[in-house]
Amino acid sequence: EWNPEKFRTTVVDGVFNDLCEGLTKIHKKKVQPYRVTSRARLQHNNSERQTILVRLDIQKSQDFTYEPGDHLSVFPTNSINIVNRIMSRLNPADRSERNVVQVETLVVDRWQPYQRLPPSTLRTALSRYLDITTPPSIRVLKLLSAMATNKEDQNRLGVLCEDVKEYESWKKFKYPTFADVLEEFPSIHMTTVFLLTQLPLLQPRYYSISSSPAFAKSEIHLTVSLVKFRTKDGKGPVRVGVCTSYLDSLPEQETPCFIRNAQNFHMPADRSLPIIMVGAGSGIAPFRSFWQQREMEIQVQEKKELNNNEVPLNCGKMVLIFGCRQFGVDSIYENETSRLVSKGVLHKVYYALSREPGHKKKYVQDVLKEKKKMVIKFLSLGGHVYVCGDAVMADGVRKAVKDILRSTMSEEDSEKKFEELLDKGLYHEDVFGV
Ligand code: FAD
Repeated sequence: EWNPEKFRTTVVDGVFNDLCEGLTKIHKKKVQPYRVTSRARLQHNNSERQTILVRLDIQKSQDFTYEPGDHLSVFPTNSINIVNRIMSRLNPADRSERNVVQVETLVVDRWQPYQRLPPSTLRTALSRYLDITTPPSIRVLKLLSAMATNKEDQNRLGVLCEDVKEYESWKKFKYPTFADVLEEFPSIHMTTVFLLTQLPLLQPRYYSISSSPAFAKSEIHLTVSLVKFRTKDGKGPVRVGVCTSYLDSLPEQETPCFIRNAQNFHMPADRSLPIIMVGAGSGIAPFRSFWQQREMEIQVQEKKELNNNEVPLNCGKMVLIFGCRQFGVDSIYENETSRLVSKGVLHKVYYALSREPGHKKKYVQDVLKEKKKMVIKFLSLGGHVYVCGDAVMADGVRKAVKDILRSTMSEEDSEKKFEELLDKGLYHEDVFGV
């Protein structure tokens, strides 16, 4: 509930500039600084899309372990332009870059620190702690409408707050940032304390780690697909994703992160089991950590074998089905995977190309169906299926696997079998995006 009487800001003394500490307090996660050391474009310049490989140095961070399949959460910075546009609408006295501000709340008759945000300058709060790019919710619009002084602004805001359909189509068409909203409704007079207490928190973005700790010992790699689109049905201004644009432009500097365990997306403990990895676009990300891990395990084993005549590591086949638009343009990590196929680390890589000139559109689920015999054989051996990418693709792959099962048994049994794959932890999904 927003009650202006119950909140205030005070300027506090002291040094409060540890961003990781601030984010740790807000999100209750152990946030650590990882240093971005390099970035490389993975797609051909001709591609309409861009995916980048980001390398982060993790040597300085403490107490962490991760496994192939885990996620890295990255806390981005909001665009300076959007922050400045919002700050220009606030009381000049509050805009000081030196003042560290603490929000306080009135509890009974005493002012106490409001724990939602740590003390910070207004710029830090708007850049690092608050979400200023997701279109404001109806709840926030309602509060803003009470602060608009012009009748026209009040009426339009009133319509957006009362009519969900109107709100949804406004949101979809303009996808407005908080700054855009303030500019669309210039008569809104808003206070700093309102912003600091009512805007949602800027959430970390998750990325599937694209490296194995055994291979890239002091680094974490990410495969990041850059978000860039035009609003207003493709005719409006270009918008970029907060975190992807941040990772794409960040100079070599530390960025706050934490590792998230992805318990149900780890490689099978029994390495002799075959694996099918299905991914499209940046959905290839976790599989790079799998193949790096496998290559290292084979190398370690080969060395041991030479020394002790040990029995070789019995690795199950590892097959990648990768969906992208065009071969040679969007087929990222192709050099790496073909080298591993020739070394026998990867058994096969199949491409599903959706925009290959002169060829019919093909999606990963189509390739899975073409490789039906292999799927059935791998599953009969207790093999694992890993699926990574957007929800539409993941649905299509589920359906294809069910169809494959159905071709060998009754519909009822195939449904049961699929449920069994899920229950036994043999079918893994890492789904992001819509
Ligand atoms: P944001 O600023 O958050 O903007 C994205 C939003 O913009 C979308 O939600 C949508 O509302 C809007 N939008 C996007 N495109 C359009 C459009 N064309 N028209 C209108 N609106 C649009 N991403 C990777 O690249 N690699 C990974 O390995 C990866 N792994 C992930 C793992 C998990 C478990 C999860 C949950 C997500 C993963 N993601 C991955 C996605 C990632 O977390 C971010 O969501 C993504 O990078 C976008 O972040 P952003 O801050 O750049 O975009």
